[in-house]
Amino acid sequence: NRQVRLAARPVGLPDASTWNYVDADVPEPADGQVTVKVAYVSLDPAMRGWLNDVRSYVPPVQIDAVMRAHAVGHVSASNSPDFAVGDAVSGNFGATEYAVADAKDVVRVDESIAPLPTWLGALGFPGFTAYFGLLDVGKLKDGDTVVVSGAAGAVGSLVGQIAKQHGCTVIGIAGGAEKCAWLTDELGFDVAIDYKSESVAKALRQHAPKGIDVYFDNVGGEILDAALARLRLGARVVLCGAISGYNATEPTPGPQNYLSLLINRASMAGFIVFDFAGRYGEAAAKLGEWVADGKLVAREQVATGGIDKFGDTLLMLFEGKNTGKLVLQVS
Ligand code: NDP
Repeated sequence: NRQVRLAARPVGLPDASTWNYVDADVPEPADGQVTVKVAYVSLDPAMRGWLNDVRSYVPPVQIDAVMRAHAVGHVSASNSPDFAVGDAVSGNFGATEYAVADAKDVVRVDESIAPLPTWLGALGFPGFTAYFGLLDVGKLKDGDTVVVSGAAGAVGSLVGQIAKQHGCTVIGIAGGAEKCAWLTDELGFDVAIDYKSESVAKALRQHAPKGIDVYFDNVGGEILDAALARLRLGARVVLCGAISGYNATEPTPGPQNYLSLLINRASMAGFIVFDFAGRYGEAAAKLGEWVADGKLVAREQVATGGIDKFGDTLLMLFEGKNTGKLVLQVS
């Protein structure tokens, strides 16, 4: 049972010294528990934050502990009446080939609706994050002009597609021509701005001449600032993430345009998807329906090489090497 454990807290980007790859016994389920053979682990930008020894919305991963990670797989041993061997499940199983979990913390997934990796993407936390972040926190209205950063990633690609279903004008911001082409040609975004090759401020002036109603921010930094400068009266800014600063070793310069919130009577709200835990069922039903009807493209990028590739695969998020939801195939 190969596992990824936290060896040392990184400064800046995680590297080889961050992780220990160890062999452990396959755990036996106690009463009310199951053992899961992990098939895919999720890679999430938030993992970088979980490595810091600071107070946050979840406690930090402890040194020598198995790295926290959402995962999907199959029950390989059961000591619970709720699950049988072979059931497909998801949960917070960690970066490991086998995990035990209390049955109450394990969620059944249906491989006839979508393959396992999708349950870590459109039908998992990225889906819920896009759904509640845009519709509840962002208070989306039909016809809004919506701008989303990190647009070709797991959350951003879904945000733009859901906004399109509401008749919105959707502008995505992503790194590179290939990602931008995917947004406009395959996902139906109206415009894609390549922040690596053009001025975001200038492009927003051109493509959102009347301003932005909802800005869904996944990246923070200069891109947030460019979007703030274009807010429309009554705009909503959704603070979902700020990946541009996750590996910073110096304090990052703050936005210059935040007074635009005041001038435009706009609101900027942060949220954690866990706030909506009581409504995951609603989101899963809707998202599942949209995927089944072909209204939502659920794209995953599956990295291979097994659990030993965890550290290298995580870095892909910070280098922008993923399009859609990044997962690692474990077995
Ligand atoms: P993604 O699939 O979007 O992967 C990360 C992407 O971020 C990369 O592909 C890269 O795309 C982009 N990126 C990396 N570095 C930078 C940078 N310096 N500037 C701009 N873009 C950068 O990840 P997720 O969809 O899983 O997460 C997106 C955001 O949502 C993250 O900030 C995450 O922390 C947050 N989140 C928040 C939740 C909540 O409850 N609030 C829940 C889940 C996620 P590119 O090539 O375009 O640069």
